[in-house]
Amino acid sequence: MLSLQFKVIGLEKSFDIENLKLIFEKASNVVITCHVSPDGDAIGASLCLWHVMRNLGKNAVVLTPDILPKSLSFLPGADEIISYSNNSLRAREIVSASDLIFCLDYNNLSRLDSMQSLIKESIVTKVLIDHHLDPERFTDYIFSDSTSSSTCLLLFQILSKLNYGDLIDKDAAECVYTGMMTDTGNFTYNSSDPSLYIAISQLLERGIDKDKIYSVVCNTNSESRLRLCGYALNQKMTLYYEHKAALIVLNKEDLVHYNYKNGDTEGLVNIPLSVPGIVYSAFIREDDNYIKISMRSKGDFPVNVICEKYFNGGGHLNAAGGEFCGSLLDAVSLFQSILKENDKYLENGKE
Ligand code: 5GP
Ligand code: MN
Repeated sequence: MLSLQFKVIGLEKSFDIENLKLIFEKASNVVITCHVSPDGDAIGASLCLWHVMRNLGKNAVVLTPDILPKSLSFLPGADEIISYSNNSLRAREIVSASDLIFCLDYNNLSRLDSMQSLIKESIVTKVLIDHHLDPERFTDYIFSDSTSSSTCLLLFQILSKLNYGDLIDKDAAECVYTGMMTDTGNFTYNSSDPSLYIAISQLLERGIDKDKIYSVVCNTNSESRLRLCGYALNQKMTLYYEHKAALIVLNKEDLVHYNYKNGDTEGLVNIPLSVPGIVYSAFIREDDNYIKISMRSKGDFPVNVICEKYFNGGGHLNAAGGEFCGSLLDAVSLFQSILKENDKYLENGKE
């Protein structure tokens, strides 16, 4: 039997896995939500739970704040996802008919972007399953384990503990594996926990093709994405060796010129970390309504602290993000102005 380390915080004082089972089984119309700009973990967990809920005989809908990247559209069930940004009326109908809402892979409501008030105002039972630090108390039940490498791993362990293993069919297994893979950079970081491989071996037994999933998610590029990333690295990257930092900036014109699509810059922020001497890397992108920040680091250099303090965001120690309200120029100036202050974290950063 797997030993689970997740914290269970319910409104009731004593809450155990049987209570969760009861909540699952009582529900008829289930809504599954994840964060804006969904990644493999958010979509993988949502679709896995969607398959399991349907296999349990529930009406279930995955509702995302915005559209998913093309690289994840192959996942079984992806074409049935409703995006609030595309169909807010339908999303409202679905939420008002629901009796259970899952919140997957996010720890506060602001991660729902414009879908925030819809979920906040619903009075049905809400269950959060997530691996980010310090979850906000906006759900009735919180399953949170910040030591877990992905929400997908935590979800798989919870479902197994509930004896729902048989409901995780090959399609569900493909989805949940995808998040385990993407949130560990294809098992290159945060991935030394043996329980991860126990889970993966059980998913492989369900017939998933892990090599195909890697190839579709991580090794498929459009020409414009390759050219955009090449341009960004060649022309728009600055290395601040004295601060062990890197910065890539893309403005609106760059994105238009390279026919930018959601997900096209995925992974770009990691690349400067491969330069010896660079401990943290930032990517600033001028989106339509705001400036998006992504940061990655090595060792104990806390990019989540920086994103929380300066960029209205947060995340994990080595992978974080946020948003900046203001001009692109101001966002870049802010990043440059805090370089010196961030030197204090450098003693933590391993190379
Ligand atoms: P990415 O850089 O891939 O967009 O995000 C990396 C991680 O940072 C995400 O998994 C998430 O934990 C966190 N993150 C990204 N953007 C935001 C944001 O706007 N707010 C918060 N709180 N976390 C974010
Ligand atoms: Mn995640």
